[in-house]
Amino acid sequence: MSEPQIAASDTPKWVYSFGAGTSEGSASMKELLGGKGANLAEMAKLGLPVPPGFTITTDVCAAYYDNDGTLPDELKPQVDAALAAIGEATGRNFGDTEKLLLVSVRSGGRASMPGMMDTVLNLGLNDVTVEAVARQSGDRRFAYDSYRRFIQMYSDVVLGVGHHLFEDILENYRNLNGHSLDTDLSAGDWVEVIEAYKNCVEEELDAPFPQDIHAQLWGAISAVFGSWETARAKTYRRLHSIPDDWGTAVNIQAMVFGNMGDTSATGVAFTRNPSTGVKELYGEFLLNAQGEDVVAGIRTPQSLTEAARLEAGDAKPSLEAVMPEVFAELSEIYDKLEARYHDMQDVEFTVQEGKLWMLQTRSGKRTVNAALKIAVDMVAEGVISEEEAVERIDPMQLDSLLHPTLDPNAERTIVAKGLPASPGAAVGEIVFNPDEAEKLAAQGKTVILVRIETSPEDIHGMHAAAGILTTRGGMTSHAAVVARGMGRPCVSGAGTVHIDYDAQIMSSGGETLKKGDIITVDGTTGQVLKGEVAMIQPELTGDFATLMVWADKLRRMGVRANADTPRDAVQAREFGAEGIGLCRTEHMFFDHERILAVREMILAESEEGRKAALDKILPMQRDDFTDLFEIMKGLPVTIRLLDPPLHEFLPQHDEEIAEVAEALGTSVKKLNYRLGELKEFNPMLGHRGCRLAITYPEITEMQARAIFEAAADAGQKTGDPVDVEVMIPLIASREEFEFLSERIIAVADAVQGEEGVKLKYSIGTMIELPRACLRAHEIAISAEFFSFGTNDLTQTAYALSRDDSASFLGGYIARGIFEVDPFVSIDTLGVGELMEIGIKRGRETRPDIKLGICGEHAGDPASIDFCEKVGLDYISCSPFRLPVARLAAAQATLRGKKAKT
Ligand code: PEP
Ligand code: MG
Repeated sequence: MSEPQIAASDTPKWVYSFGAGTSEGSASMKELLGGKGANLAEMAKLGLPVPPGFTITTDVCAAYYDNDGTLPDELKPQVDAALAAIGEATGRNFGDTEKLLLVSVRSGGRASMPGMMDTVLNLGLNDVTVEAVARQSGDRRFAYDSYRRFIQMYSDVVLGVGHHLFEDILENYRNLNGHSLDTDLSAGDWVEVIEAYKNCVEEELDAPFPQDIHAQLWGAISAVFGSWETARAKTYRRLHSIPDDWGTAVNIQAMVFGNMGDTSATGVAFTRNPSTGVKELYGEFLLNAQGEDVVAGIRTPQSLTEAARLEAGDAKPSLEAVMPEVFAELSEIYDKLEARYHDMQDVEFTVQEGKLWMLQTRSGKRTVNAALKIAVDMVAEGVISEEEAVERIDPMQLDSLLHPTLDPNAERTIVAKGLPASPGAAVGEIVFNPDEAEKLAAQGKTVILVRIETSPEDIHGMHAAAGILTTRGGMTSHAAVVARGMGRPCVSGAGTVHIDYDAQIMSSGGETLKKGDIITVDGTTGQVLKGEVAMIQPELTGDFATLMVWADKLRRMGVRANADTPRDAVQAREFGAEGIGLCRTEHMFFDHERILAVREMILAESEEGRKAALDKILPMQRDDFTDLFEIMKGLPVTIRLLDPPLHEFLPQHDEEIAEVAEALGTSVKKLNYRLGELKEFNPMLGHRGCRLAITYPEITEMQARAIFEAAADAGQKTGDPVDVEVMIPLIASREEFEFLSERIIAVADAVQGEEGVKLKYSIGTMIELPRACLRAHEIAISAEFFSFGTNDLTQTAYALSRDDSASFLGGYIARGIFEVDPFVSIDTLGVGELMEIGIKRGRETRPDIKLGICGEHAGDPASIDFCEKVGLDYISCSPFRLPVARLAAAQATLRGKKAKT
């Protein structure tokens, strides 16, 4: 958090007022005022109709936690003064039964955390003031409806009395009195419900519901600060990498009411369509309702525009039709907001008796397709630059475009149709419970979370699920917003689906499906389909391709792919690889016939036996390499020599053992004995990588021959000389490297002589052991390039098994010992320092040494940023990660440039 601002009196300035055309804050003060507070201040400054209010800063949140959950004493006079200022602006006062002011109390951190923290509306109501509201509004029903909402919300958020208790009371009351909707209840009904609510609070707490409105206010302020530490807020922060110490601000504003009859309304709206990015007014509203009703998805909202209403085939009128003046004002405000923020805005508004009020604006969450379209369109509109467009897109969001979508020609059985809430398609087992979704996903299952509606408590299950289906709620319901943010396909509001949680079944259109059955959800069309539907591979076209071209112009580092097979190489080229940075040759042997030959090679007891197996492998390797080289057409290709951790290759089952024994011409018994000899307690630290090659140099010689023969062959065929880099794995010392590189050079000389060609090749090494980093200056005497193998470097730096650590790393992250899994995002402090040592020492010996990275981290944006900082020449990741890496590399370059200026 920032340093507290010091006011003239030396007391920190904890409170910033806004409203009635002025404000003490501005959009640039997000750190101090939170996103919501800073934007409310900015809207007030722009002269937009914002209910007057004030923001208590994030510094107070820090003070609250530093003082064991107590608020600083100096806060009270500042809050009192700001409340008085609201009074002046509105002509209403807190507790004044003549002209009563009610307020809302809302959280608002630096980053938006939709639905994660607490809000209290209608604060200032008690048994006396409710009558004042009834008198002043001339609407008793409205007054008591507001009061019961307040009791329910306040009790839940501040007093900790479960929401469901009130829901039960209300449902009982409705059933007993034959009402089906809340809107059927009269003022008298609400008075009775309120009595029951108050009794419930008294029973739960042994104390009556608080009637002192100032105590209510301070209770709510503390509760909102307290909600920063709820489990769901913490989970959200962890999933979205929001630092725990940012804290939240608290926004207090004069209440405006969207539930004062049919000239009142509440809605959420976007300045562009957040699903497609099209520049059109887009959103939903509810007549005679409060904001929470739209987001909760309890009533199905109406369209803002006539065009949208017609498209949805909705019978209920649009805002454009029922409130044309409000609609026109809203349209003007959209333009002002986009002109100010240079980005698509997501706004909340309320109409109180025909008057429009803006309650919030923020950069709107959008699907990745919309993000791309908006960024590219805004460049064309001259609103932002290409650099800004590149900076705007979250690289990880691209991931969802890089996965298959439903094949339009595939057979499909549609069981229901809902709203296309978050695009993309997913197939998985039905689960009805978020905890179970998380459990099954942890077991490697792919699940679709099916719920009537979702709430912030379900977020872990939504994250674990491949797709989400809800039966209630609109395009801005919790499920829709959260799914879009997470990039999960989602169909919401599939009203024909009936879910029975107890029986664990869902039924729709005459079909009944049970837990564990497979369904497909298509968040692009809103279809829910029975069974698994065929998918098609993604393509890089349109706005996506345009943005990639811009990113490529901006980035400094090269981007290559880890590709083991010709199919990977084709995909890699489609996604813009500038070479292959890692071809793991052992992966070329995973198919049945080939693995047998590799097993023969590993298990042979004599050089002769090994050579016989190698002779079988040589032509297969040569053919694969030839294909790779032809596909890559002169781009650099790094072929890594064999690095099989033995346990991944040895036969396990009796059948396999018998098969290998036969191929080797030996008995099962003898083979089992040999297997026993080869068994390692610690295969990852065992006889793998260059160690295997040093024991059996004939393996390296075979591979070198296959590589060089293929290079000669492909070079002749295509006319593009092959640029091959031979890479030795798991090197710890110069001596190991030279033992093998001398043999590789000898084979290269031989092949060049035999084929009468001059080959373009270099020999380098993986740097994946701490010792290699420390002795990099010696290794670089002979090695022409380094590629950091950060998978093994992380494993060996931490002595943390790649294969076994998943079971306990989750606990490390939950306890805050690790912020992120070090196998996902480079540990810049430890592993990163080893890399920096390796880079510095390598360059001391060989200033022009080529430096890359080929561990999984090369596809992770935070790690890519680190690679840029330490000056690597290229990153190499899996083909499907390439667009993410290209964009992240461009952003890293831009960040680096900015840091320098
Ligand atoms: C590495 O260790 O980072 C690497 C790329 O090699 P592998 O994952 O094959 O061990
Ligand atoms: Mg490795």
